[in-house]
Amino acid sequence: MMNVNKVKLHTPSLRSVSEALSEGLQNNFAEVNVSVVDCPDLRKEPFMLASEGICGHPRLADVGGVPNLIPLPQKDKIYNLETIAKQVELPNAFIIGAGAGPSHFVGVNCELMPNINIGDNQNNTHFATVAEDGKCHLEKLRDSTDFRLLANLFASEGQQGKVICIHVKKRTGPDNFVTAIRKILLNNYKDQPVGVGGSFLIKNGKAKIHVMPHFSETPLKTDEDVNNWLKFYNMSAPLVCLSVFVSHDPDLDLRVEHTHCFSNHGEGGHYHTDTTPDDVEYLGYFNIAEYMFRIDPPTETHLIGRD
Ligand SMILES: [Zn+2]
Repeated sequence: MMNVNKVKLHTPSLRSVSEALSEGLQNNFAEVNVSVVDCPDLRKEPFMLASEGICGHPRLADVGGVPNLIPLPQKDKIYNLETIAKQVELPNAFIIGAGAGPSHFVGVNCELMPNINIGDNQNNTHFATVAEDGKCHLEKLRDSTDFRLLANLFASEGQQGKVICIHVKKRTGPDNFVTAIRKILLNNYKDQPVGVGGSFLIKNGKAKIHVMPHFSETPLKTDEDVNNWLKFYNMSAPLVCLSVFVSHDPDLDLRVEHTHCFSNHGEGGHYHTDTTPDDVEYLGYFNIAEYMFRIDPPTETHLIGRD
């Protein structure tokens, strides 16, 4: 049986988080607007999510981990989103997040942007690969709910409800959008872990995004090895990002932030940061998770390649 560890997270009110972010984000962005709002219908463009909202028993799952990919891929590590939904005690869940795609199904290693409402049978999950010409190739994933090696997931009942809306423009600090939010939560709540999931749009500007190519046949031993292996792109807005992060790791060997993006112009992958700080504009909707489920943590671990 797969090891599943359910941990209660700290759940400050949306209002308290909103107030902390409203103040803190001003250190990283020129224009900041944070508020608690009724979640808009996220099925519509530009978000294109598989469910209308991100409310109803919100929870996070950290499945597998980077040590399943690095130094060499553990090819027996195959997971399934419907199984994960049961493991996080929400069998009809709406799940979004970031993971490694089902290379056994697609035929090549890939980035996965899970975006599936299991109860409603709605699936707008995408995957990105490095094409033979070196360009990014983005495609909708049909007929499989598998993934491989690792994923960071946000599950909920996909309902409407109150969420935190974060709208910022023009980056003036060094941190990317997610890191900036995560550090503010860490500063405010210290060692009480606050878990967050949601979706944000990069409305304007460009972003540094990677896509994993074929699995490396030589062991990747350092961050430099990993960065030489990954294929990096400068992708264009609008990009829809699916984001999962936690302010503090309560010794569960977590990846503290992970964000993947997709679009309807053929680009998508793993978000690092925007590359046009003067022009960038982010608009996101987030909810606070009640639990973290640590599923099948690697037995041998390390901290390489978690950026
Ligand atoms: Zn990733």
